[in-house]
Amino acid sequence: MRDCIFCKIIDKQIPAETLFEDDHVIAVLDINPINYGHTLIIPKVHCRDFLALPEESYGSVLHAAKIIANALVIHYKLEGYNLFSNNGSIAGQSVFHFHLHVTPRYRDDNIRFVLNLKHYGDGEVKVFGDAIRKTIQSSLISYKEI
Ligand code: AMP
Ligand code: ZN
Repeated sequence: MRDCIFCKIIDKQIPAETLFEDDHVIAVLDINPINYGHTLIIPKVHCRDFLALPEESYGSVLHAAKIIANALVIHYKLEGYNLFSNNGSIAGQSVFHFHLHVTPRYRDDNIRFVLNLKHYGDGEVKVFGDAIRKTIQSSLISYKEI
């Protein structure tokens, strides 16, 4: 897609430090890493976010994520790592071509995902569960039609 920075990386129009590539995905070092080795797993098909990712790409994305996470764990002797994806600008997405972040973590790396945790009141969790389950049922019908 024109003007998509990740499509340009995939098409080799702009350089990137590629760690892994197959027919369906490319894994490149993030230019502004949370920690060194922070890698982006990018499907080769242009899709804006997770919901736009074609089902046939799921396996390739996770396969590449596992190859990278495994290599980072071995290479940096990691005790932990994060896998995450920002979807939508209010969720922090800045490049609108779906990608998974894989980033090394260290005991004293001082990185905090600041959370403002909510609490369900008495019986409330079931109310939320019932409502979402209902939507799953109706959305699955339209999902199958896509
Ligand atoms: P997000 O904010 O979740 O959409 O993540 C986009 C990521 O892409 C950011 O972490 C950027 O640092 C990274 N990024 C942007 N341009 C490039 C590039 N040319 N090569 C590698 N990583 C990039
Ligand atoms: Zn793209």
